[in-house]
Amino acid sequence: MNIIIFGPNGSGKGTQGALIKEKYGLAHIESGAIFREHLKKGTALGLQAKAYMDRGDLVPDALTVPMVLDILREKSSGGWLLDGFPRNPEQAEKLWEALKSAGLRLDYVVEILLARETAKKRIMGRRLCPDDPSHPNNVFIEKIRPEGELCRICGASLTSRADDQDAAAIDKRHDIYYDAENGTLAAARFFKDLTARGPTRYIEIDGEGDIALVKEKLLPLLAEA
Ligand code: AMP
Repeated sequence: MNIIIFGPNGSGKGTQGALIKEKYGLAHIESGAIFREHLKKGTALGLQAKAYMDRGDLVPDALTVPMVLDILREKSSGGWLLDGFPRNPEQAEKLWEALKSAGLRLDYVVEILLARETAKKRIMGRRLCPDDPSHPNNVFIEKIRPEGELCRICGASLTSRADDQDAAAIDKRHDIYYDAENGTLAAARFFKDLTARGPTRYIEIDGEGDIALVKEKLLPLLAEA
């Protein structure tokens, strides 16, 4: 099964993506994680990408597109979940061309829908439990609001990720995501229009609600392909 997943930062895309990947045994091709790996290893690509990543800008297509498409070709046989790519219409077109020329099927495109303000609150309200990262705590979400600064599950002292508290950085990422002319929503639209005519299914899922609720709605829509 081959899937592309779209969703703004704070929509739960990473969490739902991990659940899909696990259920169907897919390779998770995550462009941001690939760049971070290059950075860690100090490769030439990592060094070139660093300044863009530090600013929260997109790395230029000339670097990003070949990197992702090479990995996609490598992992094409066992099924994949593509996450973080494409992020603009040019990347979407290049991806579509590459899939066609490699004879690769695209089974599903998933778009997690969430209002921008809600996504921002989710990120800024997120608190981390040092003892167990799977303990959910968010000061802006009633159901998982912690007791003061203590984890609601185990009582450990909560922390927050520095980049989760950086409103300007969140706004910048959301500017790119929610840009329906040139940004990620435009890439999603490219696939939405395309899938109206083909065998690929385009699934829009409401990202409101907790992880379990979104999972319950989403996973049954992905039948074994
Ligand atoms: P992410 O973890 O998906 O937010 O990605 C981290 C950073 O990697 C982004 O802020 C960009 O600088 C870069 N990046 C990831 N995916 C792409 C992409 N498809 N196009 C351009 N830059 C990307």
